[in-house]
Amino acid sequence: QKAEWAKLVHESTVTSDGHHVELAANIGTPEDVKGVLANGAEGIGLYRTEFLYMGRSELPTEEEQFEAYKVVLEQMQGKPVVVRTLDIGGDKELPYLDLPKEMNPFLGFRAIRLCLEMQDMFRTQLRALLRASVYGNLKIMFPMIATLEEFRQAKAILLEEKEKLQHEGIPVAEEIEIGMMVEIPAAAVLADQFAKEVDFFSIGTNDLIQYTMAADRMNERVSYLYQPYNPAILRLVHHVIEAAHKEGKWAGMCGEMAGDELAIPILLGLGLDEFSMSATSVLRARSQMKKLSKTEAASFKEAILSMSTAEEVVAFVKQTFHIE
Ligand code: PEP
Ligand code: MG
Repeated sequence: QKAEWAKLVHESTVTSDGHHVELAANIGTPEDVKGVLANGAEGIGLYRTEFLYMGRSELPTEEEQFEAYKVVLEQMQGKPVVVRTLDIGGDKELPYLDLPKEMNPFLGFRAIRLCLEMQDMFRTQLRALLRASVYGNLKIMFPMIATLEEFRQAKAILLEEKEKLQHEGIPVAEEIEIGMMVEIPAAAVLADQFAKEVDFFSIGTNDLIQYTMAADRMNERVSYLYQPYNPAILRLVHHVIEAAHKEGKWAGMCGEMAGDELAIPILLGLGLDEFSMSATSVLRARSQMKKLSKTEAASFKEAILSMSTAEEVVAFVKQTFHIE
């Protein structure tokens, strides 16, 4: 099987009925790009930049960040690279920021909330990204967006820094898509409004499931509630994809679910455009995708979305697509 998959490294991902979907990989550091290329991913769908900030005693400089982003973009040779701005807080701490302990870190001062307040830090990252943008196909997204105001504010700051750089005569790519993670239920519900202002969505199911089910993604005791296949989650995902398409935008997914063998036929049927997963899952997913018909997968959409439990969905998908 491994040998069969290996043959797919240089192929693009086309379903049996001729639809192309993008299979991308998630990375945490520039070193991860090797694995991305070795596994034939068509792009990077999530670059988690927080690792640049972790395991050290002070903030990374603009120069350090610029180098990291540039290396990734260059190595990807024009393939899309979606970089997520700093998503710290929750389970990821930065001791040197000296933030007070919170009762509910996952619901607290984190990610874009923190960046909009600590603007010097945010602007430094954005400048580094903008300067690196001329070395490849950069797309930027913001994490943990709950409201339109947050998205507008983050985008305005990004455009301000872009203008400043251009004023200083520093080259910046003309077209940089600006998108957001959809990982907070409020943003998923209001996706039709967000879709008018973003260039793309990337659905972060790791958090979207935890927030929708109110079940901590790290807590074993409530892990039975962490249900990717709960129809509530699938309806949200469907709504986000439809909202994006209605405005001519694309929708991807960068949570663990995107690489799941059971999820792939469902997500294909729901019309997801980009699947971003760990690099080691890419070839398996491509092999699976090539055997699936998008039209057929879509024909089960209504049936799946009208089911009432995760168990029902899982049983149906296993049987219909001969999985396990
Ligand atoms: C997610 O929430 O699905 C996601 C991709 O982000 P992270 O796992 O880094 O929170
Ligand atoms: Mg997340």
